[in-house]
Parts: sequence; structure tokens; C-alpha cells
Amino acid sequence: MKEWLTDFTTFRLGGACRELATVSDAQAAADILRGWNAAGVPWRVMGGGSNLLVADAGIPEAVLRVFSALPDCRLDDGLLVASAGTALDELARFAAEEGRSGLGFAAGIPGTVGGGICGNAGAFGSALGDVLTRVEVLTRAGGTKLLPRAALTFGYRASSLPAAGAVVTRAWFRTEPGDRAQLRAEREDVLAMRRTKHPDWRILPTAGSFFKNLPPETAGGPRRAAGKYLEQAGAKSMRAGGAYVFEKHANIVIAGPGTTAADVAELAARMAAAVKERFGFDLEPEVRFWGDV
Ligand SMILES: Cc1cc2nc3c(=O)[nH]c(=O)nc-3n(C[C@H](O)[C@H](O)[C@H](O)COP(=O)(O)OP(=O)(O)OC[C@H]3O[C@@H](n4cnc5c(N)ncnc54)[C@H](O)[C@@H]3O)c2cc1C
Repeated sequence: MKEWLTDFTTFRLGGACRELATVSDAQAAADILRGWNAAGVPWRVMGGGSNLLVADAGIPEAVLRVFSALPDCRLDDGLLVASAGTALDELARFAAEEGRSGLGFAAGIPGTVGGGICGNAGAFGSALGDVLTRVEVLTRAGGTKLLPRAALTFGYRASSLPAAGAVVTRAWFRTEPGDRAQLRAEREDVLAMRRTKHPDWRILPTAGSFFKNLPPETAGGPRRAAGKYLEQAGAKSMRAGGAYVFEKHANIVIAGPGTTAADVAELAARMAAAVKERFGFDLEPEVRFWGDV
């Protein structure tokens, strides 16, 4: 049965997919994939839908939504293990509560562990690929594999997983012992800092930063914030239909009432064009486009 992806993305936009199955464990995911593969149904995988812009006309594929309503995390010999559908923020919270350091940067990042690994989600100079030790994946054919970190490559907001076509079902992270009170305090600081810069996606539909930050000017230096260039190019006063730029952050697009995915795409194109005209370089979207947006 067709399902509206509007209900499953933080932009709350986009049309329907052919069929949607929400799974929280590897066995259920494998069963669904085998059925779809046997019936020749094309499919895609999603997690929390916090990095997606789905076309208004929808997509022809079925969607496997790997998502756990409740966190599924445990400590295993110093490694932190989480199901792919666990909310990334819940993983960060669990680590702090267990007195394990190394995942504090992930506090407050929306989406799931699986989606986070796929896009190498990160903040404050750290990213999931830095602390991942192995993943359990389902191949496109529905078979289970354990992949060590060394079998994967990670870059800035990128990993080799999408190209491999694999579905992440579980992940292991390296952590170090830490002081619980201090880790809790650090977590609160990170969440407070995020609140000052980011919109609450539960209230204002968004997918966070629309464009990737730019490569460093000098080798080993920090990436350059796309928002800085967007702000100087006048992005904060831009809008298209119901889509507008967040007043506190020029790299964040909000889908106001009545916005379509086409509005967001048009606004993003104008933002990128303004930066190109003023500074001469191209911005690369961080948000993934699904369908003919
Ligand atoms: C307010 C806000 C703030 C944000 N801040 C940050 C930030 O600080 N840092 C940051 O990195 N990102 C940030 N984001 C973007 C987003 O939260 C991350 O990219 C997140 O990791 C996406 O995870 P998801 O589960 O929502 O993935 P989705 O959006 O559902 O999917 C994204 C990609 O991952 C793939 N995928 C999803 N699940 C799986 C799986 N189980 N196996 C294989 N592939 C999978 C999908 O096919 C798709 O290609 C922010 C977003 C919002 C709305």
C-alpha cells in the first residue's frame, strides 16, 4: 500500500512511496527485503528521515524504514552496541549515563544510528566514523554480514555504505571510561549550544544544514562554514513559496506552512546561485534528494 513520506521526514514534505515497512531488527528487515527482492520490488532504505528531501510526486520504490521507537543500546566489553534504528541522540545519552566518553558530540543530532553512519554524521570536529569499530549489515540480497571499520571508508558527511547498497542493522562503537557527572554536564552544554543555533525540527520542519561546509583553506585546517558565505550572499532574506531561511542560521531551510519540496529545491538553488555569484564557488547539498525534486 502506498504511504506518504511526508509523515516520516523532518521536512514533512514529499509524496508517496510504493510501500513502506518499518523494522527495528535485522531479522524483520531481512524478511521484508527477501519478499521485495523475490517480487522484483525496487526499494530504498531510510532512518529518521532527517536528511532527506522527497519529491512532491513521490518515488516509485518501496522504503525500508529502519527505526526503533525505543532505544536498543548495550555495553559489550567496553564497546557500545546499538541497533541501527536507535535514535542517535539516545545512543549519546546512553553513553553518558553509562559513564562512557566518545559519543558526546552526537547529542542532539536528529535521526538514527544507521542514517548517521551512512552519512558519517558529526559535530564539533568529530564524526561517527571516528568511533565506529564494526557494523552489521544486510546486503541487497538480504544476507547478513559483519564489516570491520577497516572495510569501510568515511569522509566528511559521507561513507562507502550507500555505494555498497547495504542496510546497516547494528553498530559497535569504541568508548572510553569517563566521569558520569561530567559527561552529563557536557551533554547539557552541547544540547544548550545546539538550541541557540538550530531550530527545533519537531516544531519547524527542516533537515538541518542544507549544504556541506567547504573544504579547509589550508591542509589540516577547519572546514569553512557554508552558512557564513550564505549569510554574506544575502540568503537570510530569501524565500520560495513557503520555504524560507532560518533567521539564526543562513544554511538552514525551513518548510513553512504550504511549502512543497519544489519550493525547497528552488530556494536551495537560489542560495547556491547567490554564493556562486558572490564568491565563485559551488555549494554541495548535504541533504539527499529522493525522486525528481
Ligand atoms: C535540526 C537538525 C540538525 C541537524 N544537525 C546535524 C549535525 O549537527 N550533524 C550532522 O551530521 N547532521 C545533522 N543533521 C542531519 C541529519 O540529522 C543527519 O544527517 C542524520 O544522521 C540522518 O539520519 P537519519 O536516520 O535521519 O537518515 P535519513 O535521513 O533517513 O537517511 C539519510 C541517508 O542515510 C541512509 N540510511 C538511513 N538509514 C540507513 C540504514 N539503516 N542503513 C543504510 N543506510 C541508511 C538513507 O538511505 C539516506 O541515504 C541535522 C538535521 C536536523 C533536522
